[in-house]
Amino acid sequence: MSQTVSLPLAEDHDPFALRLEADGQQLTRTTLQTLQLNVGKMCNLACHHCHVEAGPGRTEIMSKEVMQSILDWIDRYRDQMDLQTIDLTGGAPEMNPHFKMLVAQLRTRDLHVIDRCNLTILLEKGYEDFASFLAEHQVEIVASLPCYLEDNVDKQRGSGCIKNRLML
Ligand code: SF4
Repeated sequence: MSQTVSLPLAEDHDPFALRLEADGQQLTRTTLQTLQLNVGKMCNLACHHCHVEAGPGRTEIMSKEVMQSILDWIDRYRDQMDLQTIDLTGGAPEMNPHFKMLVAQLRTRDLHVIDRCNLTILLEKGYEDFASFLAEHQVEIVASLPCYLEDNVDKQRGSGCIKNRLML
């Protein structure tokens, strides 16, 4: 059963806390059951609508050391937090060179793993084995498509994107 945690009201100068108080509201949160990790801004696409401005030229990625720190944090707090799911996003999270290590470690801990995948990465050179890796590790794939019309998708994501998706 999830436990409710009351956040302390902030000092007088916090307008958000004052607004809540004026409305007789109390901000509460439940336990942390899903943790989303952004593992980098590298992506094989460069969509016009991308809110993190990911793309092939981006080099910012989560390091192996940071991943290890997160794994240590999970080992320490997961029971207290009732943590069940790790939601991996990017960029194309698969392009982080430590992606497979992280997924394997999370699955060893029997955590549910979500991969926010653009699907086209699975067809790129060097990533041919990722679909079977994700299947073997029972990773849930969450994929987005900006439009149901091929022309619109190509305009936003680049030529051939929807055809590649339909091949999968
Ligand atoms: S596929 Fe996703 S992460 Fe990559 S550029 Fe497009 S919106 Fe951004």
